[in-house]
Amino acid sequence: MAEARSVACPTCGKAVEWGPQSPYRPFCSERCKLIDLGAWASEKFRVPVAEENDEPESAETGDGGQAAR
Ligand SMILES: [Zn+2]
Repeated sequence: MAEARSVACPTCGKAVEWGPQSPYRPFCSERCKLIDLGAWASEKFRVPVAEENDEPESAETGDGGQAAR
């Protein structure tokens, strides 16, 4: 079985020949490769941008809520 194998492109699911004729394997094209990498990067960058209302110090009304410290 030395025939050309093929894999599914992780981005679009298209069959990609596994060989030198597919330099972007397992992606079907450079575009799909960049899309996948881009998705990765945007997920990483999205993590530290999810806090804004998290300020426990803003509740200083002095009604005894801070006595636990
Ligand atoms: Zn693709």
